[in-house]
Amino acid sequence: KVRVRFAPSPTGGLHLGGVRTVLFNYLFARHHNGEFILRIEDTDQNRFVEGAEQYIIDCLSWCGLNPDEGPNVGGPYAPYRQSERKLLYKQYAEQLVKDGYAYYAFDTSEDLEQKRTEVPNFRYDHSNRLSMNNSLSLSTEEVDRLIQSGTSHVVRIRMPEDETLSFTDMIRGAVSFETSQVDDKVLLKADGMPTYHLAVVVDDYLMKITHAFRGEEWLPSAPVHLLLWEYLGWKEEMPQWAHLPLILKPDGNGKLSKRDGDRLGFPVYAMNWTDPKTGDLTKGFRELGFLPEAFVNMLALLGWNDGTEQEIFSLEELIQKFSIDRVSKAGAKFDFEKAKWFNAEWIKQTPNNELLNLINPLLQEKGVSSTPIDVNKVISLVKDRLVFLNDFWEQASFFFVPPQEYDLPSVKPKWTDAKTNFFNSLTAVLDSKNQIDALDFEAKFKQLAEQQNLKIGEVMLPFRIMLVGGKFGPQVFEIAALLGVAETKSRIIKALE
Ligand code: GLU
Repeated sequence: KVRVRFAPSPTGGLHLGGVRTVLFNYLFARHHNGEFILRIEDTDQNRFVEGAEQYIIDCLSWCGLNPDEGPNVGGPYAPYRQSERKLLYKQYAEQLVKDGYAYYAFDTSEDLEQKRTEVPNFRYDHSNRLSMNNSLSLSTEEVDRLIQSGTSHVVRIRMPEDETLSFTDMIRGAVSFETSQVDDKVLLKADGMPTYHLAVVVDDYLMKITHAFRGEEWLPSAPVHLLLWEYLGWKEEMPQWAHLPLILKPDGNGKLSKRDGDRLGFPVYAMNWTDPKTGDLTKGFRELGFLPEAFVNMLALLGWNDGTEQEIFSLEELIQKFSIDRVSKAGAKFDFEKAKWFNAEWIKQTPNNELLNLINPLLQEKGVSSTPIDVNKVISLVKDRLVFLNDFWEQASFFFVPPQEYDLPSVKPKWTDAKTNFFNSLTAVLDSKNQIDALDFEAKFKQLAEQQNLKIGEVMLPFRIMLVGGKFGPQVFEIAALLGVAETKSRIIKALE
């Protein structure tokens, strides 16, 4: 049974690259009728940020990518928070020491600091581990004595001096590493907490993970993980890895970072995130007015396609069509204009009653709590003009509040008494009606203009400006129909004053 996991460290908001990692995990799991697990990797207490875990859970839920197992939903392999599994990791570290694959290191942070000043580019590895304070360099008696007396120590992996390690990445194919280039990473810290390297391997094993998708930035850690799988005797059960391509800056120059968003004026996080320490807000796609369907669709195409020209995919379709063979090795450039296009397309495709649920809160925010206007119909009229949901107010506020200002320069210089007369007779036409039918009203409007020897264009634009305030909006007779007889009339009269 396919089991995949998203294993974030709760250190802040979720970058869109993180959400794409979730998405590919999720799609792969669903495609294979497997399970998708959320595991919180919070072993680094220094980087722990309050609220980040809940934020991640909320993001997943907004995107519709809910885990089958995780800290919020439980599951057969609970707990899913590594800090709550702390005691479990120690035995594996001990076993590695016993088998000679790892060792105790007693160096204090001052020792290490000093080494770093003495030796340029100091790396704790085969070239100098014997000159350090550890169970490889000290006598057994000394090591026993240090441990008995409670001397603070860590456990480090003993990287082989000169081996080539390789594995087959599902995206990259054969990948290999020289162990001589890798340092003796800490596995268990002095406080008894495992580091990421030990915890990720132990948990992927215990949670029976079959495939692991993660960002390309984790590739350099792979040799450590490969060895741990081997040294712990679990090599047969090692998940298949896929290191996902980076999401690049719009110009292709390096990885898209949080700062790029601020600089270039678009969000890089899924939802707004406020740093609890500094109070700094990093903006998110959700609050900008993205539909989750559009966000997910856009992310899926950053590094994947189905081999055709198709770009709009529902989550169901993505599940059906997703295959890891079509994930590219090359980084994917993030294009905000394209992201906007996805959103506009999705707004067009979303049924009005669903949009209504999202737009109602926007209206409330603007103080429109009840309205005689049929908001569903307003949505049909303006939905093709929305890039973000939040554009709704800009495009449609005149349905709910009469214009406060008019685009006078567009009408005033050419105003004539004949036009005033025309609009006076138009209100008379309205008096004879209970409701406005757009087509019928348009015919009457044109007929009246003709009778009074006015060109349609001469009165059409003023009419729009009377109803809307400016030169925008959907078809003007449709607007009048929605506003109704009384409101249309009152706007004409007010504008004529
Ligand atoms: N905890 C790592 C992170 O924060 C997980 C990397 C992995 O999936 O192995 O992304």
